[in-house]
Amino acid sequence: MTGKILIVEDNPADMKFLKETLEREKYETICSKNGEGVFPLLESNPPDLVILDILLPDIDGFDVCRRIRQNDLFISLPVLFYTTISTINEKLIGLEVGASDFLTKSADERELLIRIRNLLNAKKKIDKIVKLSFYDELTEIYNRRYFYHRLRDECERSKRYKRNFCCAIMDIDYFKTINDTFGHPTGDRVLKEVAEVTRSNIRTADVLCRYGGDEFAVLLPETDLPGACVTTERVRRFIANLEAENGEKPHHVTISCGISVFSESIKDMNELMSQADNALYKAKQEGRNQIKAYIEK
Ligand code: GH3
Ligand code: MG
Repeated sequence: MTGKILIVEDNPADMKFLKETLEREKYETICSKNGEGVFPLLESNPPDLVILDILLPDIDGFDVCRRIRQNDLFISLPVLFYTTISTINEKLIGLEVGASDFLTKSADERELLIRIRNLLNAKKKIDKIVKLSFYDELTEIYNRRYFYHRLRDECERSKRYKRNFCCAIMDIDYFKTINDTFGHPTGDRVLKEVAEVTRSNIRTADVLCRYGGDEFAVLLPETDLPGACVTTERVRRFIANLEAENGEKPHHVTISCGISVFSESIKDMNELMSQADNALYKAKQEGRNQIKAYIEK
């Protein structure tokens, strides 16, 4: 079993014991001597498990756990309270704030290691399920569910800070013809290639998903319309270099794309996506292999 374990402990002797015991078992360890130090570490060097003391020099372990549980990013992160205090009250508070397990420092070392292994195993399984629920199996990019999850957050953020962002919907042109001419497996390969070319031509902060059969959507945070046009135009050009073929005459793959801008006048994310869809429809109507932005009537 491998894993990275964050030890939150202010007592040097306990810290030394945990570090040595875990490293002997080939776990990687990171350490924090206080509560506040945990949060930057969770972001910069995410662990697979947190071992948490209750009494810390700044905020207590209960607060640390409570704050971890408030953040969806750490949905699968196990927190094991490891403490000298063992009254039923402490245990109850620990479990109430979301502890995954609770162990006193007097416990047998073998019990500690078995509990750790169980928690790490459970996290692995949850991560696998979370991944499956957010990714498209064929193209290995995000699926529509994850996209809407991020889009909802971005709309909220945008409203609060009065900042605009853009969304794009791209649809492969005449994809049915590609399937009919070269067969479904070639169609699938084209879908994967379009996803890969798009992914490598957008920023890491942008969110790309498979929106439907041959449709892809991109969320471009902190991006204005000219920026979104430059990005999608680059993607369009790179995709136009792709060819579908199956020993027969190759077919150039092209996409059409519609862009919408999230601004103060937009009601919600459904309106934003429907505007992008409108613009996409226009791009198709006007000859395909092109990008159109939504223009208010
Ligand atoms: P248009 O230029 O108007 O977009 O024409 P089109 O032929 O691309 O039409 P449309 O976008 O409506 O066609 C989508 C097609 O995508 C229909 C469906 O058979 C095909 N499709 C959907 N999912 C998959 C898939 O997972 N693999 C393959 N190979 N084809 C798929
Ligand atoms: Mg299509």
